[in-house]
Amino acid sequence: MSSESHFSYINAMTENKCALIHYGELSLKGRNRADFEFKLIENIEKIAGGAVRRHRGYFIMEDGDPGLLGKVPGISWYAEALAVDNDPDSIIGLVRDEVGRMFSGPALSFGVFARRPNKKFPFTSMELAGMVGDMITKSYGFTARLRSPDISVFIEIADKTYIFFEKKEGLRGLPTDVSGRVLSLISGGIDSPVSSYLMMKRGCRVDLVHFHVYADNSFVERTKMGGIFRRLNEYQLGTRVFLVPYYPFESSLLRLTDIAGHELVLFRRFMVSVSEKIAAGNGCLALVTGDSLGQVASQTIDNMALVRQAVSLPIFQPLITYDKQEIVDYAKKMGTYELSIEPYKDCCSIVSANPKTRARRDRILEIEKNMSIRKVIDETLELVTLCQL
Ligand code: ATP
Ligand code: MG
Repeated sequence: MSSESHFSYINAMTENKCALIHYGELSLKGRNRADFEFKLIENIEKIAGGAVRRHRGYFIMEDGDPGLLGKVPGISWYAEALAVDNDPDSIIGLVRDEVGRMFSGPALSFGVFARRPNKKFPFTSMELAGMVGDMITKSYGFTARLRSPDISVFIEIADKTYIFFEKKEGLRGLPTDVSGRVLSLISGGIDSPVSSYLMMKRGCRVDLVHFHVYADNSFVERTKMGGIFRRLNEYQLGTRVFLVPYYPFESSLLRLTDIAGHELVLFRRFMVSVSEKIAAGNGCLALVTGDSLGQVASQTIDNMALVRQAVSLPIFQPLITYDKQEIVDYAKKMGTYELSIEPYKDCCSIVSANPKTRARRDRILEIEKNMSIRKVIDETLELVTLCQL
């Protein structure tokens, strides 16, 4: 798909412009399909602000901001289009005007890509493409070439005929709120914003929980974390963020000696335990973390198993098989990378001096007993605050 935009023309013609929206996996959903479609429509209207009409296999959005359709999970592709009656002369006339206005130059190549979901149209898609192609050659002297042409003319004949010159890729996945609510543990790093986003793309409503080093929860909003929360919120709106100070944990840990190398696993077990309680009280069915197998010392199978054993809720780890570069690419694409690399005083950087790659379970349980971990968890839960974006 071309990333270059040809859409200056859209502003010139207001009366029949619209956005054509196609969704992918939804069509696999059998009897639930209509529910999924209505949910997607609701999400599009909330995020992109237009009025959406439902047709068989596609939607049409009028008004709103088509640029925001790229932020709505569940859309496979979309296009800013011009709608015209299903009449060959009108179609050819509109393509002629638009191509003439948008493109000039002696040696341009073009391809016409027609589809005809509406079989009542009197010509096949091949026939229509041939007629439109002849017109372009005659009117402008351009050459037909189907492979990577300079100009792509897309024509979809449905309830009306939609003409467009660029297909934009959507996020794909499933619409927000069809898969249930989860609680995602988010740090100031690169990974967990991406794991949160990937869960959003699977139809989950993702609440966020962040553990921080400040004495006061309200301070977090003023750090880069505020920017990360808001960026993620663009994909689902109404995000709930739970903020948790980690000082009760830190001070109980400081009282102990001979725990060297175990801090990180202890901290991760503490975080999932607190998060599990928050999840239970707020309708979240699973926890999410940004672990990637073997990336750092806490992410060995042994240590992840020890963390997992601290709770009974499922822990989803969407990035478990991703390498760092793949995660960075995602973070750049969905817009959190630049925020994540800003300096930030994250709790992990404090507890992670020389972590053991293989903490011992008996030792971990003993330390937790010595630090009265249950009490620390309860004390921490008293300090949790919720803000809704
Ligand atoms: P990230 O880039 O997401 O911080 P990481 O590679 O630095 O990941 P760790 O620091 O070991 O890995 O953290 C693993 C996971 O634990 C994170 O992806 C996140 O889900 C969770 N986590 C870590 N620190 C915090 C925190 N301060 N608050 C909430 N969750 C956290
Ligand atoms: Mg981290």
